[in-house]
Amino acid sequence: MIKSKSTVAPELTSLSVSQLFDLRAPVLLWDIKTSQLSHNADFSDSYQELTSVSELMPLLTSVSAEKLLQFIGDGVQGGHSFCLDVVFVEPATSCIVWGVALSDEQVVLVFNRHHPIELNSAAYQNLVTLFNSVNAYIWHLNQRGEILFANQAAESVITLEASKNKSLLEVLPLWGDAQRRQDEILTTLKNGIALHGTLEAGHDGDKECWYKVDKIPTRDSSGDVSGLMLLMVDVSVDELNKRALKATEERYREFIHDSSDAVFRIDLYPPVDTTLDATQQAKDIQLSAVLVESNLAMSQMNGSDEISDILGGAFIKNFFSEFDGSLLEFVESSYRLQNKEVSRLFNGEDAFYQLTLSGAIENGLLIRIWGTARDVTESHHYLSALKYQASHDLLTGLPNRAALYAAIETQIKSASEHNRFALILIDLDRFKEINDTLGHDVGDKLLTLIGPRLVNDIDDYQAFIARLGGDEFAVLFPKIRNNQQAVVLGYRILDAIREPFELDGFTAEVNASVGIAIYPDQANDLTTLMRYADVAMYQAKADNAGVSVYRSSYDQYTPQRLSMMNDLGKAIREDQLELYYQPKIDISSGQVYGFEALLRWNHPEVGFIPPVEFISLAEVSNIIHPLTKWVVESSIIQAKAWLDAGYEFSVAANLSTQNLSDEHFVENLGALLEKHQLPAEYLELEITESSIMAYPDRALRTLNEINQLGVALSIDDFGTGYSSLAYLKRLPVSTLKIDSSFVMDILDDAQDSIIVSSTINLAHNLGLEVIAEGVEEREILTMLQDMNCDKAQGYYMAKPMQAKDVQAWLNNEKWYSAE
Ligand code: C2E
Ligand code: CA
Ligand code: CA
Repeated sequence: MIKSKSTVAPELTSLSVSQLFDLRAPVLLWDIKTSQLSHNADFSDSYQELTSVSELMPLLTSVSAEKLLQFIGDGVQGGHSFCLDVVFVEPATSCIVWGVALSDEQVVLVFNRHHPIELNSAAYQNLVTLFNSVNAYIWHLNQRGEILFANQAAESVITLEASKNKSLLEVLPLWGDAQRRQDEILTTLKNGIALHGTLEAGHDGDKECWYKVDKIPTRDSSGDVSGLMLLMVDVSVDELNKRALKATEERYREFIHDSSDAVFRIDLYPPVDTTLDATQQAKDIQLSAVLVESNLAMSQMNGSDEISDILGGAFIKNFFSEFDGSLLEFVESSYRLQNKEVSRLFNGEDAFYQLTLSGAIENGLLIRIWGTARDVTESHHYLSALKYQASHDLLTGLPNRAALYAAIETQIKSASEHNRFALILIDLDRFKEINDTLGHDVGDKLLTLIGPRLVNDIDDYQAFIARLGGDEFAVLFPKIRNNQQAVVLGYRILDAIREPFELDGFTAEVNASVGIAIYPDQANDLTTLMRYADVAMYQAKADNAGVSVYRSSYDQYTPQRLSMMNDLGKAIREDQLELYYQPKIDISSGQVYGFEALLRWNHPEVGFIPPVEFISLAEVSNIIHPLTKWVVESSIIQAKAWLDAGYEFSVAANLSTQNLSDEHFVENLGALLEKHQLPAEYLELEITESSIMAYPDRALRTLNEINQLGVALSIDDFGTGYSSLAYLKRLPVSTLKIDSSFVMDILDDAQDSIIVSSTINLAHNLGLEVIAEGVEEREILTMLQDMNCDKAQGYYMAKPMQAKDVQAWLNNEKWYSAE
């Protein structure tokens, strides 16, 4: 196709070859058959000497060369002419060429060099300035990819001079993938399509570099591609940042996707008005919630492996409806919820989650909620199993000691003013024997049966039953009316345990000791309650009493007392002990007939320690034996001294339970009487009712032996134990000492006075004498006299005194008159 026919200067067709050659313009004569060229001087001045078409072509841009060949090839006929734009590469010139076919074989080309690039023009300089100020490498390449122009930045990479006559590949392997860039340049040069913003990677030494590259074809005046502008902008920093960010984002996404925690985003359609009241907001949130993003873990919480299954509104609304309160809490805590434990029924089982929510608010509207939910069902079960284990005894399944403590603490905290409760400790007697003779399996079996047995028996009392370890159990009765009820319940427990147990073919009978402490009468804190119940239990065991309520006189376990016990042995050896003597009078004659020896301890550091405090302590250790021996011997010595001085006073010493079980006691007693030459009738021994009841058989035997020595016996503290007079009848005792607690009140308390007078009568019927202790007033003495009481002891007559003071008392008071 010849498109420029009409523009050919018509006058040229009429010129001869030599006339054409004389034109002041570069002229070529093209022999089509031979492809030989001849030219005029102007041509070689402007361009170069050449003789063939193959030499011409490289001078032109490829497009121009192609065009030219096309025109020639389109068939040249004589007289035919054309006009077209061509671009010379070197020197860079754009010109119009007129072609005239002289014949079928000869074409004359006249070049009108009217578009030299004027490097010095102002416009061009402006362009250069512009190019230099652009933060990019800019090259203008000709059709062969040779550099026509480089801005300053580009020049600094490779100078125009250095790039002269170099191939494209040599010139532009500046960074990175040069081959690819060159291919693209060639493509652009060929098809004239600009390539904008391609990202090219490279390396500058070790450094990774990134360029944004524009390849813009430049065109000649006829619109043909004449070269290209190559723009390279270093975007390494941006690109590296972007890549790093993307990598992080990807990792993050992956992390979220793979996270075992559910991660989700909820959009609210419509957004929720945060000025509404919290309850309304919580409701609205649930209504508006649409799950727009979520990970696999979240869908798995719904039993599906497809995230798409849960997106939308249905699932999330349902999800939230199960955690009703949480949304309210979320609203109330400034649209934030942190690891809130929630649970719901999932697949028929309780599932537990830790829910974290964070709300996004715009213009007073809650528009979005980000959240995570962690399935903690397993750890929850694990924890509750741990909790169960921590609070239960594994063998019996009963609550353990820790649980009991917690229950007591709760009970104390919630106790109102008049709320009384009882703590009962139970210790099986001789459980070790069962274990040893029948085996541990049987022992364990027995332990497991205790709980159900107790539950059965005391079910109506909302009792809390625990196993403390070994053969120790505890029952907490959260409400009792009075102390007496606690004792009754203690006996019920005891009776329940005493019922025979069926153990793999055996029938085992088990006994137990029960100790009771009562809140708040006796103690109002956990530690003291436990200790008191323990002390009472121990006492019940020691006394073989079955059930025992705490009494302060039982208490042997304070640290102070324990250290005191160490000192007690020393006290005996080092003379810190002393006996005080309290007179006993015969009521009818009003005369003193004897004294009770009462122990005193003057501790070198602590000072005076009352007997109730250290004797109970001595009683739980072997020290009670030397202690009693000291008391008895000192009493014998004192009685003997009085006797030698002419006073026929009996001296009464107090015995402890343990002394009655001491095989050598009677033997030693006889030896002491013998040693100090005291007739047995001047010694009396007092033994409490409860000591006798602890081991009734053994007590009976020992008391008989003592009696046979001729030593008189009296039963101390009578009325505080549970002995029957029928039993007492069998004992070789001569006197009952009515406990001071009855005596002190006989003036005011009718019941006490009845008890005292009837005891006196019954005792007399049994042939026993009665002595009342705790006589503090004359009126009491008078009343006792009216009741026919035989003897009396008490502050009214005298307080216990040192032996050295007895003489003065005898002289000054009315209770003694020499015959
Ligand atoms: P107990 O054998 O019942 O002794 C009587 C206690 O009552 C003595 O207290 C005595 O001081 C006190 N008492 C006497 N008359 C009155 C009175 O009118 N009003 C009041 N409020 N109290 C009176 P003590 O000496 O403190 O002895 C307390 C307990 O210590 C004795 O009670 C006894 O059980 C025990 N005890 C004292 N000495 C010995 C001992 O040598 N061996 C043993 N095993 N126990 C002893
Ligand atoms: Ca006594
Ligand atoms: Ca007494």
